[in-house]
Amino acid sequence: MSKKPCDMLITAQCVITQNAARDVLWNAALAVTRGKITDVGNADRLKNKYEPGELLDLNDCMILPGLINNHTHASMTLLRGLADDLPLMVWLNEHIWPKEKMFTPEIIHVGAMLACAEMIRTGTTCFADMYLVEDETARAADISGIRAVVGEGIFVFPSPAYDNLDKCWELLQALYDKYRDHPRIKTAIMPHAIYTTNAEILEKSFETAEKHDCPWKIHLAENQGETQAGLEQFGKRPVEYLKNLGVLSARTLIAHGVDLTDEEIEILARTKTKAAHCPKSNMKLASGAARVTDMVNAGMTVGLGTDGAASNNMLNMFSEMTAAALLQKVVRLDPTVADAGLVLDMATVNGAACQMWPEIGSLEPGKAADLVALDLNSPNMQPLYHPVSQAVYAANGAEVRLTMVAGEVLYKDGKFEKFDYPALLDEVGKIRDWLKENAA
Ligand SMILES: [Zn+2]
Repeated sequence: MSKKPCDMLITAQCVITQNAARDVLWNAALAVTRGKITDVGNADRLKNKYEPGELLDLNDCMILPGLINNHTHASMTLLRGLADDLPLMVWLNEHIWPKEKMFTPEIIHVGAMLACAEMIRTGTTCFADMYLVEDETARAADISGIRAVVGEGIFVFPSPAYDNLDKCWELLQALYDKYRDHPRIKTAIMPHAIYTTNAEILEKSFETAEKHDCPWKIHLAENQGETQAGLEQFGKRPVEYLKNLGVLSARTLIAHGVDLTDEEIEILARTKTKAAHCPKSNMKLASGAARVTDMVNAGMTVGLGTDGAASNNMLNMFSEMTAAALLQKVVRLDPTVADAGLVLDMATVNGAACQMWPEIGSLEPGKAADLVALDLNSPNMQPLYHPVSQAVYAANGAEVRLTMVAGEVLYKDGKFEKFDYPALLDEVGKIRDWLKENAA
């Protein structure tokens, strides 16, 4: 019997599929054609079945689906380590906002490129971003080869991207039109928060998200201060405010969701609202611990995100997975909650659901060939008993040997394939010097 052609056959010691049965396969292979997985299974069987255009031997590696960063502000990489360990309003007013005011579209682009490099280097293949002049982040995703869901931050006041709200709505439409047919970049609608918008903006932006059939994302219930401000400004807690506006739905994704009551979690679950949990940012800004265990038990879909690099300070989903598991255990005083399987789901299949992107999140026929290979020769990866637990608790991202999106290698054995990394580092250094010298 003649062999079937495929573009690429990838072999590995072990493959975490994240399929419905959560199969973990040993001595496994994946067949890839036109950026999609066509077959997954035993390596010997697939080698006999296929005649690949290219054989990618990753036999010292464990392969898992590329990780999905559900909430970040990519260009804030340029503010990494600028100011740490400060009260929130001092940090924002005296350090972050003055520097952001100096950001030009070109600076935003360089920051987004650095973010893409960091994420690709640490096994993230898709990120959801909310920032200013988001077209520059989309451009970075386009160049670097990563997948992205981009959302221009919507505010009631002018932003560097628009002078007034009419211009903002035009910009959202233009961004949508520009990327609607892009294979790796989608747009979403992202009003910043309840305290930086108004009811009209929230309603109108939600209608836009329905029209574009895309996620509608907002920072919500990040800490007790936000709840207090909501009560003072609107006479309601954040969840009730959104519920009354009719914007809680299956396309709604709340970032953080820390300060929630039992009843609010029940409302979010009933409306199929999803959450992007950002444990490290929540810990670093002392916002608190999101009630992930209660959310999941109530039936909510919870994804995982890093938030921006100014409040993390990494865009590393391996580090985020470890933090998510450990934080739940310590707040619940229960080592059985947020187990490795749930946390990996948050970073893969749940993330795909949060982004309304069913083609990603697992390695099975018909899905995109978005994957990451971890070097099992790293000391911290041996011995290997339980691959999922190893990925969540032992891996730190430094083991990533290869990152692939839509069948294309973006990073392999220390080298970025799609852009000039040393030149990017030069640009980052120049911006750092300029921001320091021209401190507001
Ligand atoms: Zn955020």
